[in-house]
Amino acid sequence: MNIPTVDLKAQYESIKEEVRVAIDGVLASSQYILGPEVKAFEEEMAEYCNVKYAIGVASGTDALHLALRACGIKSGDEVITTPFTFVATAEVIKHCGATPVFADINKRTYNIDPAGIETALSPQTKAIIPVHLYGQPSAMDEIMAIAEKHSLKVIEDCAQALGGEYKGKKAGSIGDAGCLSFFPSKILGAYGDGGMIVTDDSDIAEKARMLRVHGAKKSYHYTLNGFNSRLDAIQAAILRVKLRHLGKWVELRNERAALYSKLINDIDGIDAPHIEDYNKSSHNYYTICLSDARIDRDEFRNHLSSKGIKTMVYYPLSLHLQETYSDLGYKKGDFPVSEWVQDRVVSLPMYPELSEDQIRGVTAEIGTFIKSIQTNTNQ
Ligand SMILES: *Cc1c(COP(=O)(O)O)cnc(C)c1O
Repeated sequence: MNIPTVDLKAQYESIKEEVRVAIDGVLASSQYILGPEVKAFEEEMAEYCNVKYAIGVASGTDALHLALRACGIKSGDEVITTPFTFVATAEVIKHCGATPVFADINKRTYNIDPAGIETALSPQTKAIIPVHLYGQPSAMDEIMAIAEKHSLKVIEDCAQALGGEYKGKKAGSIGDAGCLSFFPSKILGAYGDGGMIVTDDSDIAEKARMLRVHGAKKSYHYTLNGFNSRLDAIQAAILRVKLRHLGKWVELRNERAALYSKLINDIDGIDAPHIEDYNKSSHNYYTICLSDARIDRDEFRNHLSSKGIKTMVYYPLSLHLQETYSDLGYKKGDFPVSEWVQDRVVSLPMYPELSEDQIRGVTAEIGTFIKSIQTNTNQ
């Protein structure tokens, strides 16, 4: 077997002709940054996400950063988020001069636990960033209720959740703003970096549009102290092609996840992802939990790797334990669920082009490995 965690080449092969035509169009137009391609892509994305406005920016990280700024987050403020996420989620809080405050995750979904948010509140709290991890939306009703009660902004980190739904609502359309990443391995991947803010709030949209072009309301007239954070026209043109396939790709991911879970549920000691009944995950990553303490994760991954099956760990060290956040004063034991999960998760190969045989091959190897561990330790 030779199964990568994502197969960007297989996807490119399937849309090569359309992509080349789109790129040629941009090259011929000589409009390389923002312009009509980006505008058209923004309109299509706003429609897809069921929001009024979409603002293309340079990356998912910048989408989060500019969204926080557009929401007025500044020095002295606190923003509550999960410690079990990619570093960008917390990094941008610091870039605003604000302080990340972590709240532990739910044991089944690995998303931020609303009860933990309540505990983390302070008079300085100004916003919450729920991260829809692996593609599954967070507990948005509870989070929105807390936000309403305490007048907080909610910025959804949808970097992994484009196409996911919470109670029939698109991820990103529930909070004050949603932030998307077009990093190549994400659900909708560019051929480079890219990101987007989606929102129904005209004030946030207007500020984000200014912030991405140095704070200018019109050319060379600066209202805010801004940034250079724009989406390239070539990326927008490629993403417009891919957007036409996105619905199908999300369905294929869901079908693949369903087959994986059916097979994994037959293996003792390993948990398939728990998706709430009311949620639709986009399954950016298909992440299992090695809940049987006898399983050594490195050995597990090495075994699969020796059979040609690549895996990843998202994320091996919770943010409150990262050196860069040592100034926040957290210590080991502060977020027991996040710390328990960080040692046990493994993301298996997941992409729309993954075949049924490949999934059966992966789960068969997992079964073989687990059986060998469990017979050894039972003796
Ligand atoms: C990928 C990712 C980001 C950052 O997106 P970039 O486009 O790589 O800057 C932020 N948050 C989460 C949860 C991500 O997975």
